[in-house]
This record gives sequence, C-alpha cells and structure tokens, in this order.
Amino acid sequence: MSACLPCDLEQADAAAIVYRDDTWSCDVAAGYDVPGWYILRLRRHAEGWAGLSAAEAAGFGGVSQQVAAAIRDATGSPTVYFMSFGENYPHFHFLVTARPSDLAPEHRGAGILGLREAGRDLPASLAIAADVRDALLPQPTT
Ligand SMILES: [Zn+2]
Repeated sequence: MSACLPCDLEQADAAAIVYRDDTWSCDVAAGYDVPGWYILRLRRHAEGWAGLSAAEAAGFGGVSQQVAAAIRDATGSPTVYFMSFGENYPHFHFLVTARPSDLAPEHRGAGILGLREAGRDLPASLAIAADVRDALLPQPTT
C-alpha cells in the first residue's frame, strides 16, 4: 500500500473493477464500499486537472458518460453524482455515486457523504459492481 488510494486501486480484485482501459479505471474502493459507489480515476499518478495530458482530458468525458449510464442502468438510480475534492488524495479521481430516488433529502447533494460509514457493505457493493460491469458491455449490434 502506498500513501495514494487511487494508485493502490491498480491492485484491486477483478470483482471490484467495473471499468478499465489503458488510461482509466473505475473500481469499488475499500473504505468507500457503499453499494453503488466507485472511484473513477486516471490509472497513472497525476495530480489535479493540470496533471492530465490533452488526450486524457478529452477522454475523460466519454468514460464518465459511459460509467454514469451503466450505474444508472444497473442501479435504477435517476442521478449519478461525481465528486472530486483532491484534498486527501491529489491523484486525479472522482467519487462516483448512485443517488437512489428514495434517498432522504438530507443526504442529497454533498450530504450523501454522510452515508459513507453506515452504508458500507462490501458483498452488496461487489454484487452491484457486477451489474454495472454487465451494463458497460458493448450491446450486440443487429
Ligand atoms: Zn496516485
């Protein structure tokens, strides 16, 4: 383990990975393993928006769009939050969370972070991760 959680996720178990290509990865992360929550991160260590190459910055939109759609499809949540603070880990990453339709008003927006401890459930998180992975698979063309 390094001091950088996003770097450490390179060693995530296959069951925790919902998306991965040469540049980006989206994973269930220990400590943030609330069902429907993921860390979407640049695979190499680079800090903040300024650390991205032009190609990485351009690719981020497409990856984010795909991941958000898959989370919506797999969870039935109408909204997917993207949060990035860069305080604890400056490595470029977003906490991406499903926002269920029945979420209490006090937990909407940034208030969802209040569910981080009480909401942790690794088995349920990995089960939903499998559904998100399936939702990301290319659909057969006819
Ligand atoms: Zn890092």
